Amino acid sequence: MSRPHPNSHLIGDLQARSALATPALILDLPVLEANLSTGMRLVKDAGKAFRPHFKAHKSLDIARRQLELGATGICVATLSEAEAACELGAELLLTSIISTDAQCKRIAALAASGATIIAVVDHPDVALRLESVLQGTCGALDVLIDLDMRRARSGCATPKAAAELGNLVSASPTLRLRGVQAYAGQLSHMTSCKERSAAHAEFTSRLAAFKFALSHILPDDPIVSGGSTGSMNLDLSGPLTELQCGSYALMDVEYLNVEPGWTAWPFKPALRVQSSVLSTHWDAHAITDAGDKWFADKYGAAPRIVLGAPETAVFEPISDEHARLVTEAKLHPGDRIECLPPHCDPTINLFAAYHVFAGEQLRDIWPIEARGL
Ligand code: PLP
Ligand code: MN
Repeated sequence: MSRPHPNSHLIGDLQARSALATPALILDLPVLEANLSTGMRLVKDAGKAFRPHFKAHKSLDIARRQLELGATGICVATLSEAEAACELGAELLLTSIISTDAQCKRIAALAASGATIIAVVDHPDVALRLESVLQGTCGALDVLIDLDMRRARSGCATPKAAAELGNLVSASPTLRLRGVQAYAGQLSHMTSCKERSAAHAEFTSRLAAFKFALSHILPDDPIVSGGSTGSMNLDLSGPLTELQCGSYALMDVEYLNVEPGWTAWPFKPALRVQSSVLSTHWDAHAITDAGDKWFADKYGAAPRIVLGAPETAVFEPISDEHARLVTEAKLHPGDRIECLPPHCDPTINLFAAYHVFAGEQLRDIWPIEARGL
């Protein structure tokens, strides 16, 4: 039996911000909406398609807004995200490689149920596995050939391997080749803009070699999908036909620590973790209720305090349910502290819902979908 959300009675309350059960994930609605519009405008003005990534926000409410603004479709990272996002009725791109029979059956079932979904493949064995599963359902599936853009995480490593796989897919009665995925994720958090530009130039020429090897089998208007928030400024004038950025909607400390590709980041932090002060018996620190279970980082950044304590205070999760707030400022039990999360996607995955705020008013509570398998 599912319990009601402990803050649901506060929806609509004009002073809800200081009354929440914590730790709570807060989403600033006006900032989110500005980020979504700015992202869409930048991509559209560059003449590209935008297929924002669901993995960042895991929210049907946010994905719906992205589609209303003109997104071509939605990227998903897992089959459970794909299953959740189905109800959007948008064309989904599963950007992660699948490999097992069980995964192939699951994606075939989605396609057979009427979902429009594109898979990525990087190995002939998986293409054949998909083909045989699809024969059982009488369905067909769109695919992109995944290319390794030196992230060394997935993708064909050479133009020759990509062409061999492309030939196999082209000849298949059940697979339809739509284009390629060229995700250079290693660029996203390169701190220096200069370094990122140099890596992007290398990515551009590497991708050209792959496209040349595939030119005889690619459709007339192939999808060339990839990109992240960190490389967005470069991708706007690069070889991708569609961008997969996700974090731009929410932002986080680790992106704010990266030198922006613009004079300033066009996206502002929309996400905060709110915690409550529990204990205050020490001169140089207090204890709050958001410990390790409520924060995730990828590159070692700490939560950044933006409300409730001086900017110089340091927020350190010290155990599962407790964090130390290092400051000489006098705090009291029940005081609210808000921090920007170090890394948005894995932090969001720790929470069941967003508390959607405009100022002090709790506008709504949006569920975070597909956190499991
Ligand atoms: N595409 C793929 C394949 C990814 O793995 C990711 C994120 O890790 C993204 C796009 C979006 O990147 P970001 O959230 O940094 O914009
Ligand atoms: Mn990320």
